[in-house]
Amino acid sequence: MDKLIRENIKNLNAYKVDAPQYEIIVNANESPYDFPMVLKRKFCDEICNTDLNRYPEACFPELLTELHAYTGVPEEGIICGSGSDELIAMINQAFVNPGDVIVSHSPSFAMYDIWATIADARHIRVDDLPEHVPDIDTMIAEACEHNAKLLYMCNPNNPTGYTFSREEIIKVLDAVPSLVILDEAYIEFFGKSGVDLIKFYPRLLILRTLSKAFGLAGIRCGYALGNKSIIDILYKVKGPYNLNVLTQKLAVIALKNRDTILRNLEIFKAEREKAMAFLKALNAFKIYPSGSNFIYFEAPQAEAIYEALIKKDILIKYFKESDRQPGSIRFSMGKPQENQKILAIIKEVVYNEA
Ligand SMILES: *Cc1c(COP(=O)(O)O)cnc(C)c1O
Repeated sequence: MDKLIRENIKNLNAYKVDAPQYEIIVNANESPYDFPMVLKRKFCDEICNTDLNRYPEACFPELLTELHAYTGVPEEGIICGSGSDELIAMINQAFVNPGDVIVSHSPSFAMYDIWATIADARHIRVDDLPEHVPDIDTMIAEACEHNAKLLYMCNPNNPTGYTFSREEIIKVLDAVPSLVILDEAYIEFFGKSGVDLIKFYPRLLILRTLSKAFGLAGIRCGYALGNKSIIDILYKVKGPYNLNVLTQKLAVIALKNRDTILRNLEIFKAEREKAMAFLKALNAFKIYPSGSNFIYFEAPQAEAIYEALIKKDILIKYFKESDRQPGSIRFSMGKPQENQKILAIIKEVVYNEA
């Protein structure tokens, strides 16, 4: 096999992880609220009236209608994928040759690097400046010097919560020759989308997902917004039936009922502010501002906090200390009672270690 496999795939680890089994799970920025039961029933009714022996719509017309209504982007400027994950893969397939350069800020979303590796690209990860402010000037310099094909800006950023200003996004768009991918997975929590820039910048591609604010990580539905010229290229590499009929039906129901579903946003924001204030009052961590549904902080006690929470059947995301950054923690907002529980345990660890 060693002779058959591509060199760049050899050292990749397969993503074979079991779904976590904990009482409280806040490690993956999912919504703690399941899809409303009335809407699940509606979905079941629709499925009962759907011929599952037939292939689904190849280009998800109903979904495009709803996404146009939600985002304001013309349907010809939208494409869907099995999670934004698949869209990142498609972007690499369509634009990146082996050896091409991809630029991103770091730390950021792990999938940019994995798909870059699979494409055998050279991924330049530009370390953040102090305070986890992305080093935009260096990103621009690297993208220009190497004629980068792709440049990622994750807004708000996972895991640091950093939010790019409109001026920063425009500065990058004006300076680089690359396709600029603005990952807006958490945009509903932040509210300031770059979507209106699409008509001025043909090289801007915006990634979105139903996995976070819509609480639908289970159905795998992401979408990209851009000019027709980029979207047409992505359709060339799209698998023929990449969105199954169940996902298409459920996504349409979710978008039609978005006012109901997105009502939870206010709860998340209020919970985030409360948790932020609580953690700040402990005076023990370096806490970063968040434009998202999660909080990120650096803490000497990071590992102890992770362990204490695991013992109580709670899973958060723990980043080990490395030469690049101190130990840190990211956890997303659960239900109010879950957050209280988490915060109480964190406080206990801080007091016991003091
Ligand atoms: C969660 C997340 C996504 C969404 O991925 P899906 O494949 O759509 O579930 C995309 N980008 C970032 C930065 C994320 O954190």
